[in-house]
Amino acid sequence: MEYQSFLIKYAEIGIKGKNRYLFEDALIKQINQALKKTEGGFLVSKESGRIYAQASKPFDYDEAVEALKKVFGIAAICPMVQVEDQGYEDLKEKVKQYVDEVYPDKRFTFKVAARRANKQYPVGSEQMNRDLGELILEAFPETRVDVHNPDVLLRVEVRHKINIFSEIIPGPGGMPVGTNGKAMLLLSGGIDSPVAGYMIAKRGVRIEAVYFHAPPYTSDRAKQKVVDLAKIVAQYAGPIPLHIVNFTDIQLYIYDQCPHEELTIIMRRYMMRIAERLAEQSGCHGLITGESIGQVASQTMQSLAATDDACGMPVFRPVIGFDKQEIVDVAEKIGTYETSIQPYEDCCTIFVAKHPVTKPNLGIIRRSEENLQEKIDELVEQAITTVETVWCR
Ligand code: ATP
Ligand code: MG
Repeated sequence: MEYQSFLIKYAEIGIKGKNRYLFEDALIKQINQALKKTEGGFLVSKESGRIYAQASKPFDYDEAVEALKKVFGIAAICPMVQVEDQGYEDLKEKVKQYVDEVYPDKRFTFKVAARRANKQYPVGSEQMNRDLGELILEAFPETRVDVHNPDVLLRVEVRHKINIFSEIIPGPGGMPVGTNGKAMLLLSGGIDSPVAGYMIAKRGVRIEAVYFHAPPYTSDRAKQKVVDLAKIVAQYAGPIPLHIVNFTDIQLYIYDQCPHEELTIIMRRYMMRIAERLAEQSGCHGLITGESIGQVASQTMQSLAATDDACGMPVFRPVIGFDKQEIVDVAEKIGTYETSIQPYEDCCTIFVAKHPVTKPNLGIIRRSEENLQEKIDELVEQAITTVETVWCR
């Protein structure tokens, strides 16, 4: 079957009234963006709780489906045949053709579920169910009817045109990006932070990202890896501006002035502070990290509290309760895993102490940071003014 259109279903829970329009319009925008990359010249439109994407030119079906599977807010993608109302006999013929083309192997059970949204149509839905069922049984004797648990649920919707569909491809769920504000993702080259960004974007949040780069301790290749990861996340989240902060001078200064076992935690506090400044500049409502309780020394409850203390914005940590394997599973599903495991050092691994504090005392940490008074504000300003922003799409 050469499909020309898709019917796109979204989960409607919690999006009644005015919110529904915002939700639908944002979803349409994201669908347009996603389908723009295909050849189809798609027209995306809505009609009473339904979204349709109709091709105006030949297109690569698999490519279009793959693109739609990445659009948050889509609950299901139904490739559909849409026909003009040219009388009931004509509809029967089209339904027969549909079944024949979509299911070359006819050994399946089915049920017809007709719906007459256009009440002017002369045949009722019950009658259509019976007629179309009989017609299929007659035309394809290997098929059988099963009204309780059919292999194929054939839907025929009579609206101002008639939609015929039976295949349902699951979408990613979530909410359309752009319906829930914006947040700043601290994106490292690891496994966890791309997953964290994906998860927050899935709830409709637009993403910006910041990467702390420490040349020459971290290589250009490490930076490129982060750009590559941002591009993968952007396939779902839409274009991501990635802010690359040169963190070397700050790291060296902390290294010179503070106890080495506190390096990681103090460094992380400065990452949060700089990320927050950048977040404020670009209208973000929070920060996102890939932290998970207990994964490493800097992710104990005490360390997380010490990190939180450095900034005023809410910090979202969507993988906080995930085991590593659970995070890996998502990374594999969304396609970031292979890139994340490439062996390029990140700036944290170079400056780690042999025995980092695992239960930092906030009072002590703040006191150590006083050693930085002389130059740190200037270094932070410099880091912020020299940010390099790369658009990842
Ligand atoms: P990840 O797999 O995301 O790198 P991780 O388990 O290696 O996480 P850490 O290195 O302790 O954990 O980092 C915790 C979080 O801090 C990361 O998930 C990320 O959000 C942020 N982060 C760490 N290093 C950087 C960096 N160089 N640039 C930006 N964010 C960073
Ligand atoms: Mg890391």
